Amino acid sequence: MNRFIATVVAGVLAMGTTAHAGVTEDDIKNDQSITSQIVTNGMGRHLQRYSPLDTLNKDNVKNLVPAWAFSLGGEKQRGQETQPLIYDGVMYITGSYSRVYAIDVKTGAELWQYDARLPEGILPCCDVINRGGAIYGDKFYFGTLDARIVALDLKTGDVVWRKKIADYKAGYSYTAAPLIVDGKVVVGNSGGEFGIVGMVYAYDAENGDLVWTRPMIEGHMGTLNGEESTMTGTLNATWPGDMWKTGGGATWLGGSYDADTNTLVFGAGNPAPWNSHLRGAGTPAEGNTGDNLYAASRVGIDPQTGDIKWHFQTTPREGWDYDGVNEVVPYTDKSGNKRYATADRNGFFYVLNREDGAFVSATPFVKDISWASGIDETGRPIFVEENRPGNPAASADGKKGEVIFASPSFLGGKNWMPMAFSQNTGNFYVPSNEWGMDIWNEPITYKKGAAYLGAGFTIKPNYDDHIGSLKAIDPDTGEVKWEYKNDAPLWGGVMTTAGGLVFTGTPEGEFIAFDDETGEKLWSFQTGSGIVGQPVTWEQDGEQYVSIVSGWGGAVPLWGGEVAKKVNYLNQGGLVWTFKLPKQLASAN
Ligand code: CA
Repeated sequence: MNRFIATVVAGVLAMGTTAHAGVTEDDIKNDQSITSQIVTNGMGRHLQRYSPLDTLNKDNVKNLVPAWAFSLGGEKQRGQETQPLIYDGVMYITGSYSRVYAIDVKTGAELWQYDARLPEGILPCCDVINRGGAIYGDKFYFGTLDARIVALDLKTGDVVWRKKIADYKAGYSYTAAPLIVDGKVVVGNSGGEFGIVGMVYAYDAENGDLVWTRPMIEGHMGTLNGEESTMTGTLNATWPGDMWKTGGGATWLGGSYDADTNTLVFGAGNPAPWNSHLRGAGTPAEGNTGDNLYAASRVGIDPQTGDIKWHFQTTPREGWDYDGVNEVVPYTDKSGNKRYATADRNGFFYVLNREDGAFVSATPFVKDISWASGIDETGRPIFVEENRPGNPAASADGKKGEVIFASPSFLGGKNWMPMAFSQNTGNFYVPSNEWGMDIWNEPITYKKGAAYLGAGFTIKPNYDDHIGSLKAIDPDTGEVKWEYKNDAPLWGGVMTTAGGLVFTGTPEGEFIAFDDETGEKLWSFQTGSGIVGQPVTWEQDGEQYVSIVSGWGGAVPLWGGEVAKKVNYLNQGGLVWTFKLPKQLASAN
């Protein structure tokens, strides 16, 4: 190549770089170690929610003070489950009803607000929440309750592109934070209670073109660059008849990314309907196992093609709404093994091999699990058959199956609220709940846009003095190192730091810092409404900051039962609280 052409090529490359100014793949890859910004959900795509910052520590956390607060305003309060992102002097948060705010991180002043202006007739199952966005290049990405993915200009909040994920009239919506991998925006879908089909979608971050799709239910075809790619599973291997066509498996909590094995890991929710007898449970003679793959599973996916690399089903023949969506966190164990950990709705804490998703171990992380007596050496539950809700077809009038008590409840030993992994202690900090339910099955047929459960339930506390239980768990042994009990169910995210701190919030409004080794409560602050958001920390001008969004809501207050008395007095809200450790107090004891 002559010098002239080389110069032109270099110039084109430089222009290309300019066009992608802003957050780079390297920024995203190194989000955990770049402590001045937070550009991913989970403070790193492994979702460890661990900060290497230790300026704020066990000795000086008592000096953590509010720096500013920001109101999400209006009458649209409801649950605020978001995680703030911090980039170039700006905090970006999503709010209830699919809103986004850009806030000056020094002053707490609003820079812009975007409101998705939702249509009538959206069908969110479990409050009008949003769990956060993603930043890549010069854009902010987030999902909406009418099942769209929206790219906004970081500086102005103007819409750059907006794509429909799926039809909200059929029950689809989206609330999880998108995941950015190699220039693609990877998202899932919500709507498992409406007989939708769970799917993972990858969009070109620049223009929103759909690159690939991967359905989570066997029999459905994936796509790549607009053409059919491969079928998910083998048609009718684990589903009877046509039930797979409306089989659920919503990917409503998004995914994580393991850079070491170049694998996306997404979880799939409950198979639909809830009534497992309609999906072949206990009738393998029909020629299928009734396991209903890949619902209630974790699935490893190739980020380039959307092909399935491996799967692990936590609850085959699922019949209690034990969605398999909970976050899968890549980490290195105390012996140096590369592992995944996930705390399932079904009450068991699983460790998997990172290479192939193979089962390593499972231990209960809540008490009183009733549906299984344990997990066998292959990773399959040892079912307690009499604790499966009964078949309505076997009842006298065919209208209601036998009522059974199941623990955990359908809201799970752990629900959406993310756990944290400390590289300081090697332990996971798991927000869990001790509760059960009476549950029964009923007949149901699929109708577009209508709830597709075939079940009824009443949720109940298992103990008088607490439902919520934050646990420090040694993943190598499953041992609970310490536990913090909370009256109301825990529903907020957890974060841990190299300073030896574990942060989380309660529905009662307290934002708390615990000692990561002992569980001692070292600091707390009353935020004025219930906390169901996700804490973050970063460093700015030599000072360490911590933020949490406060605003009570989410699924818990919608489902009442005997849990209502523990939460029905709590006030709604909508505030970002930002705290800092002032320089002059950092060394004070
Ligand atoms: Ca569900």
